[in-house]
Amino acid sequence: MEEKPINLQEMFRRALRTQVELGMGEVIISKEERFSENSQLEERPPLIEKLTEPGDLFGAASKVVCAPQYDSLQAQYEAICNCNLCPLWQTRTKLVFGIGNLHAGLMFIGEAPGRDEDLQGEPFVGRAGQLLDRILVAINLSRQDVYIANILKCRPPNNRDPLPGEVEKCLPHLQEQIRLIKPRLICALGRISGQILLKTNTPLGKLREQWHEVEGIPLMVTYHPAALLRFPAYKKETWADMQALKERYDELRKT
Ligand code: SF4
Repeated sequence: MEEKPINLQEMFRRALRTQVELGMGEVIISKEERFSENSQLEERPPLIEKLTEPGDLFGAASKVVCAPQYDSLQAQYEAICNCNLCPLWQTRTKLVFGIGNLHAGLMFIGEAPGRDEDLQGEPFVGRAGQLLDRILVAINLSRQDVYIANILKCRPPNNRDPLPGEVEKCLPHLQEQIRLIKPRLICALGRISGQILLKTNTPLGKLREQWHEVEGIPLMVTYHPAALLRFPAYKKETWADMQALKERYDELRKT
């Protein structure tokens, strides 16, 4: 499908968002303007503005209560496929549940569906998804070997960041998927996914290059493929992350 040309404001908004994804907690916005979620200019006095409030997402992740438990992913899908727990159900085309090996040892978790994912009902199918596929091939894996899901199951309008209330409602769905799949390793793709899963507001730059743990499962945080499309220079660091991930995965498979 042909991409619509994007205007300067949208390019600037995406560049700012990428800076935050790459680990900057604050970005400087010139003059007395900022971009709202729908890319319209708004008058705003402060020169320095936090682009996102990761603390809010961290707080939302901390507030999550236990989800209902199911016997299988299929049973869970049937139970939540018409979910309307947060307002995103009103604007979604398809709920994007997740895809891959139901007994995967390795799970990749992104932030939320984008336009292509919303249309097709499958995670990571756009350009970023194709890049993820190539990354998997580079470490001798494929979509059939792993499981891929997102923090949010429905697309936020204009691909904006998830709101705390949406995370609070949707994260239990993912937690139940993790409980059913029982992966040996998790790879969080991007700052938002990493911060929500780890319940922290630490920047991506400081979350990378170390192992964390979620529910007793080792977790690595690396760049989101969409960020790599905008900043190809970060592919080298991602490759290092992927090699570390594959090494740990291969070790765990021997046990
Ligand atoms: S984003 Fe999650 S909680 Fe919100 S409607 Fe979709 S599935 Fe339900």
